[in-house]
Amino acid sequence: MAKYTGANCKVCRREGCKLFLKGDRCVTGKCSIERRPTVPGQHGEASLRKKPTGYALQLREKQKVKRAYGLLEKQFKTYYLEAKRQKGATGEVMLSLLERRLDNVVYRLGFGVSRTQCRQIVNHGHITVNGKCVDVPSYQVKVGDVIAVKENAIDSKQFKDIKGSKIITPKWLEVDSNALTGKVIANPDRSDIDLNISEHLIIELYSR
Ligand code: SF4
Repeated sequence: MAKYTGANCKVCRREGCKLFLKGDRCVTGKCSIERRPTVPGQHGEASLRKKPTGYALQLREKQKVKRAYGLLEKQFKTYYLEAKRQKGATGEVMLSLLERRLDNVVYRLGFGVSRTQCRQIVNHGHITVNGKCVDVPSYQVKVGDVIAVKENAIDSKQFKDIKGSKIITPKWLEVDSNALTGKVIANPDRSDIDLNISEHLIIELYSR
């Protein structure tokens, strides 16, 4: 599967906010956006002085969400199209679909430090859903699903520090950090999404 392989911190600087793409580093003083909060590139500072057009605002909002979830354009648009097909406010449904991706759920359960790492954990077959190995990061979880780290991976170096630690999850998930299992107890609602997102701008962009 294609993925973005450039510098993660540049992405945050471009979007002007923390997207938490690098795990622990994001909450330390080493975070690039705290040390150098300018748009990357030769004309970065100059671009900040220009008043953004309506289109630019919509585009940046879409890029921000797409990059936070680590998706490429085609994958991201699929979520918009699916949300449009379903009942409810398109923007909210789209965010709910994104939140219910398996790689994001593994991240929210605290089994990895970033969505990128969690995607790798899923890809490497370390995660089960309802007892069956699922190695598809885009897998959509549903209420009642039990997500767990595979037994043979629990004692690996990767999960050793997480086991038994205090993990704070959003209210739609519950976690047992000793067993490294989690359960989906509800569908995520808009208030569960902690990124500062104006989803209406994304919908406006795709409706052009
Ligand atoms: Fe973004 Fe994390 Fe880099 Fe900070 S450290 S700029 S939050 S990826």
